[in-house]
Amino acid sequence: MTQRMVGLMGGMSWESSAEYYRLINQGVRARLGGLHSARCVMWSFDFADIEALQHAGRWDEAGDALVAAAQGLMAAGAGALLICTNTMHKLAGRVEAAVAIPLLHIADCTAVPIQQAGLRRIGLLGTAFTMEQDFYRGRLVERFGLDVLIPPADDRAEVHRIIYDELVQGRIEPRSRAIYRAVIERLIARGAEAIILGCTEISLLVAQDDSAVPLFDTTALHAAAAVEWALAEGAPSYQRP
Ligand code: GLU
Repeated sequence: MTQRMVGLMGGMSWESSAEYYRLINQGVRARLGGLHSARCVMWSFDFADIEALQHAGRWDEAGDALVAAAQGLMAAGAGALLICTNTMHKLAGRVEAAVAIPLLHIADCTAVPIQQAGLRRIGLLGTAFTMEQDFYRGRLVERFGLDVLIPPADDRAEVHRIIYDELVQGRIEPRSRAIYRAVIERLIARGAEAIILGCTEISLLVAQDDSAVPLFDTTALHAAAAVEWALAEGAPSYQRP
Protein backbone atom coordinates (compact mmCIF):
# COMPACT_ATOMS: atom_id res chain seq x y z
CA MET A 1 0.00 0.00 0.00
CA THR A 2 1.12 3.54 -0.53
CA GLN A 3 2.23 5.39 2.51
CA ARG A 4 2.14 9.15 2.64
CA MET A 5 5.06 11.02 4.17
CA VAL A 6 4.67 13.02 7.37
CA GLY A 7 6.81 16.03 8.23
CA LEU A 8 7.84 16.37 11.86
CA MET A 9 8.80 19.72 13.35
CA GLY A 10 10.96 18.43 16.15
CA GLY A 11 13.78 19.16 18.53
CA MET A 12 11.37 20.84 20.96
CA SER A 13 12.81 18.96 22.65
CA TRP A 14 14.57 16.06 20.96
CA GLU A 15 13.81 13.98 24.07
CA SER A 16 10.19 13.86 22.91
CA SER A 17 10.98 13.90 19.19
CA ALA A 18 12.79 10.60 19.71
CA GLU A 19 9.52 9.25 21.17
CA TYR A 20 7.56 10.50 18.16
CA TYR A 21 10.00 8.81 15.81
CA ARG A 22 9.79 5.53 17.73
CA LEU A 23 5.99 5.61 18.12
CA ILE A 24 5.30 6.49 14.47
CA ASN A 25 7.63 3.74 13.25
CA GLN A 26 6.11 1.23 15.68
CA GLY A 27 2.62 2.26 14.58
CA VAL A 28 3.40 1.74 10.89
CA ARG A 29 5.01 -1.62 11.61
CA ALA A 30 1.98 -2.70 13.67
CA ARG A 31 -0.30 -1.85 10.76
CA LEU A 32 1.78 -3.03 7.79
CA GLY A 33 3.95 -5.69 9.42
CA GLY A 34 7.23 -7.12 8.21
CA LEU A 35 9.99 -4.67 7.56
CA HIS A 36 7.70 -1.70 7.09
CA SER A 37 8.61 1.56 8.76
CA ALA A 38 7.44 5.15 8.55
CA ARG A 39 8.12 7.43 5.62
CA CYS A 40 8.91 10.63 7.40
CA VAL A 41 11.15 13.65 7.45
CA MET A 42 12.07 15.64 10.55
CA TRP A 43 13.26 19.21 10.93
CA SER A 44 14.98 19.31 14.29
CA PHE A 45 15.58 22.68 15.95
CA ASP A 46 18.27 23.60 18.44
CA PHE A 47 15.96 23.88 21.44
CA ALA A 48 18.17 26.49 23.14
CA ASP A 49 17.22 28.92 20.37
CA ILE A 50 13.52 28.15 20.67
CA GLU A 51 13.45 28.31 24.47
CA ALA A 52 15.21 31.70 24.45
CA LEU A 53 12.59 33.11 22.05
CA GLN A 54 9.72 31.66 24.13
CA HIS A 55 10.85 33.09 27.44
CA ALA A 56 11.69 36.47 25.88
CA GLY A 57 8.18 36.59 24.38
CA ARG A 58 9.68 36.85 20.88
CA TRP A 59 6.91 34.82 19.29
CA ASP A 60 7.12 36.53 15.90
CA GLU A 61 10.68 35.29 15.45
CA ALA A 62 9.74 31.85 16.71
CA GLY A 63 6.94 31.89 14.15
CA ASP A 64 9.42 32.78 11.38
CA ALA A 65 11.52 29.78 12.41
CA LEU A 66 8.52 27.44 12.37
CA VAL A 67 7.37 28.72 9.00
CA ALA A 68 10.83 28.12 7.51
CA ALA A 69 10.75 24.58 8.88
CA ALA A 70 7.25 23.94 7.56
CA GLN A 71 8.19 25.14 4.09
CA GLY A 72 11.37 23.06 4.16
CA LEU A 73 9.44 19.94 5.13
CA MET A 74 6.91 20.56 2.39
CA ALA A 75 9.69 21.02 -0.15
CA ALA A 76 11.17 17.73 1.06
CA GLY A 77 7.93 16.00 0.14
CA ALA A 78 5.96 15.94 3.40
CA GLY A 79 2.21 15.78 2.81
CA ALA A 80 1.18 16.78 6.35
CA LEU A 81 2.90 18.46 9.27
CA LEU A 82 3.15 17.80 12.99
CA ILE A 83 4.49 20.40 15.41
CA CYS A 84 5.97 18.00 17.98
CA THR A 85 5.26 20.19 21.00
CA ASN A 86 2.08 21.50 22.57
CA THR A 87 3.56 24.89 23.43
CA MET A 88 4.56 25.79 19.90
CA HIS A 89 0.98 25.28 18.76
CA LYS A 90 0.66 28.87 19.88
CA LEU A 91 1.98 29.46 16.35
CA ALA A 92 -0.13 26.84 14.59
CA GLY A 93 -2.13 29.48 12.73
CA ARG A 94 1.01 31.01 11.24
CA VAL A 95 2.25 27.62 10.10
CA GLU A 96 -1.11 26.71 8.56
CA ALA A 97 -1.23 30.01 6.69
CA ALA A 98 2.24 29.49 5.25
CA VAL A 99 1.91 26.05 3.66
CA ALA A 100 -0.49 24.26 1.35
CA ILE A 101 -0.48 21.01 3.33
CA PRO A 102 -2.49 20.16 6.45
CA LEU A 103 -1.28 20.54 10.00
CA LEU A 104 -2.38 17.77 12.36
CA HIS A 105 -3.16 19.83 15.46
CA ILE A 106 -2.09 18.19 18.70
CA ALA A 107 -5.07 19.50 20.69
CA ASP A 108 -7.54 18.06 18.18
CA CYS A 109 -5.77 14.68 18.18
CA THR A 110 -6.15 14.66 21.98
CA ALA A 111 -9.66 16.04 22.32
CA VAL A 112 -11.30 13.60 19.91
CA PRO A 113 -10.49 10.47 21.97
CA ILE A 114 -11.49 12.32 25.15
CA GLN A 115 -14.87 13.04 23.62
CA GLN A 116 -15.15 9.47 22.37
CA ALA A 117 -14.54 8.27 25.93
CA GLY A 118 -17.48 10.42 27.08
CA LEU A 119 -15.29 12.58 29.33
CA ARG A 120 -15.72 16.31 29.73
CA ARG A 121 -14.04 17.67 32.85
CA ILE A 122 -10.30 17.34 32.32
CA GLY A 123 -7.14 18.52 34.02
CA LEU A 124 -4.41 20.03 31.84
CA LEU A 125 -0.69 19.78 32.58
CA GLY A 126 1.91 21.46 30.38
CA THR A 127 4.17 24.46 30.22
CA ALA A 128 2.90 27.73 31.69
CA PHE A 129 2.28 28.88 28.11
CA THR A 130 0.02 25.92 27.43
CA MET A 131 -1.79 25.92 30.78
CA GLU A 132 -2.33 29.66 31.03
CA GLN A 133 -2.81 31.01 27.52
CA ASP A 134 -5.86 30.67 25.36
CA PHE A 135 -4.41 29.08 22.22
CA TYR A 136 -4.68 25.59 23.71
CA ARG A 137 -7.35 25.66 26.43
CA GLY A 138 -9.55 27.86 24.25
CA ARG A 139 -9.48 25.31 21.45
CA LEU A 140 -10.44 22.49 23.83
CA VAL A 141 -13.31 24.51 25.22
CA GLU A 142 -14.63 26.10 22.05
CA ARG A 143 -14.21 23.29 19.53
CA PHE A 144 -14.77 20.30 21.78
CA GLY A 145 -16.86 21.58 24.67
CA LEU A 146 -14.42 20.36 27.30
CA ASP A 147 -14.30 21.81 30.79
CA VAL A 148 -10.59 22.41 31.37
CA LEU A 149 -9.09 22.61 34.86
CA ILE A 150 -5.56 23.86 35.38
CA PRO A 151 -3.51 23.60 38.58
CA PRO A 152 -3.21 26.60 40.93
CA ALA A 153 -0.30 29.01 40.41
CA ASP A 154 2.25 27.33 42.69
CA ASP A 155 1.58 23.92 41.15
CA ARG A 156 1.80 25.39 37.64
CA ALA A 157 5.18 26.89 38.47
CA GLU A 158 6.50 23.50 39.58
CA VAL A 159 5.06 21.67 36.56
CA HIS A 160 6.67 24.26 34.25
CA ARG A 161 10.01 24.25 36.09
CA ILE A 162 10.30 20.47 35.95
CA ILE A 163 9.68 20.50 32.17
CA TYR A 164 12.42 23.03 31.40
CA ASP A 165 14.96 22.22 34.12
CA GLU A 166 14.67 18.45 33.88
CA LEU A 167 12.53 16.72 31.25
CA VAL A 168 13.75 18.50 28.12
CA GLN A 169 17.26 17.83 29.40
CA GLY A 170 16.62 14.13 29.77
CA ARG A 171 16.53 14.17 33.57
CA ILE A 172 13.90 11.89 35.06
CA GLU A 173 13.72 12.40 38.84
CA PRO A 174 11.57 10.32 41.24
CA ARG A 175 11.08 13.44 43.37
CA SER A 176 9.53 15.25 40.41
CA ARG A 177 7.30 12.28 39.66
CA ALA A 178 5.97 12.58 43.22
CA ILE A 179 5.28 16.27 42.63
CA TYR A 180 3.35 15.51 39.42
CA ARG A 181 1.40 12.76 41.21
CA ALA A 182 0.35 15.21 43.90
CA VAL A 183 -0.66 17.85 41.32
CA ILE A 184 -2.74 15.23 39.49
CA GLU A 185 -4.39 14.17 42.78
CA ARG A 186 -5.39 17.75 43.51
CA LEU A 187 -6.92 18.10 40.02
CA ILE A 188 -8.89 14.89 40.59
CA ALA A 189 -10.10 16.21 43.95
CA ARG A 190 -11.48 19.22 42.05
CA GLY A 191 -13.42 16.93 39.72
CA ALA A 192 -11.06 16.08 36.86
CA GLU A 193 -12.27 12.91 35.13
CA ALA A 194 -9.07 12.63 33.09
CA ILE A 195 -5.73 14.38 32.73
CA ILE A 196 -4.14 15.66 29.53
CA LEU A 197 -0.37 15.28 29.53
CA GLY A 198 -0.17 18.48 27.50
CA CYS A 199 3.56 18.62 27.11
CA THR A 200 5.30 16.08 24.94
CA GLU A 201 7.94 15.18 27.55
CA ILE A 202 5.61 14.49 30.50
CA SER A 203 5.09 10.86 29.53
CA LEU A 204 8.83 10.35 30.06
CA LEU A 205 8.12 10.98 33.77
CA VAL A 206 4.52 9.97 34.43
CA ALA A 207 2.62 6.81 33.48
CA GLN A 208 -0.96 5.60 33.97
CA ASP A 209 0.01 4.07 37.35
CA ASP A 210 0.63 7.60 38.63
CA SER A 211 -3.00 8.64 38.20
CA ALA A 212 -6.36 7.39 39.47
CA VAL A 213 -8.07 8.73 36.32
CA PRO A 214 -7.20 8.11 32.64
CA LEU A 215 -4.21 9.96 31.23
CA PHE A 216 -4.33 11.30 27.68
CA ASP A 217 -0.76 11.51 26.45
CA THR A 218 -0.45 14.08 23.69
CA THR A 219 2.75 12.54 22.32
CA ALA A 220 1.22 9.10 21.80
CA LEU A 221 -2.07 10.47 20.47
CA HIS A 222 -0.37 12.86 18.06
CA ALA A 223 1.94 10.10 16.80
CA ALA A 224 -1.05 7.78 16.36
CA ALA A 225 -2.83 10.45 14.30
CA ALA A 226 0.25 10.72 12.09
CA VAL A 227 0.14 6.97 11.45
CA GLU A 228 -3.57 7.16 10.65
CA TRP A 229 -2.98 9.98 8.21
CA ALA A 230 -0.01 8.28 6.56
CA LEU A 231 -1.95 5.07 5.98
CA ALA A 232 -5.39 6.48 5.21
CA GLU A 233 -6.94 4.66 2.26
CA GLY A 234 -7.71 6.44 -0.94
CA ALA A 235 -6.02 9.71 -0.10
CA PRO A 236 -3.73 10.91 -2.87
CA SER A 237 -0.06 11.34 -2.05
CA TYR A 238 1.21 14.88 -1.97
CA GLN A 239 3.08 15.66 -5.17
CA ARG A 240 6.23 17.70 -4.98
CA PRO A 241 5.69 21.08 -6.62
N1 GLU B 1 7.62 19.78 24.46
C1 GLU B 1 6.95 20.64 25.34
C2 GLU B 1 5.51 20.86 24.97
O1 GLU B 1 4.89 19.95 24.48
C3 GLU B 1 7.68 21.81 25.90
C4 GLU B 1 8.86 22.29 25.12
C5 GLU B 1 8.47 23.46 24.31
O2 GLU B 1 8.40 24.52 24.86
O3 GLU B 1 8.23 23.31 23.11
O4 GLU B 1 4.93 21.88 25.21
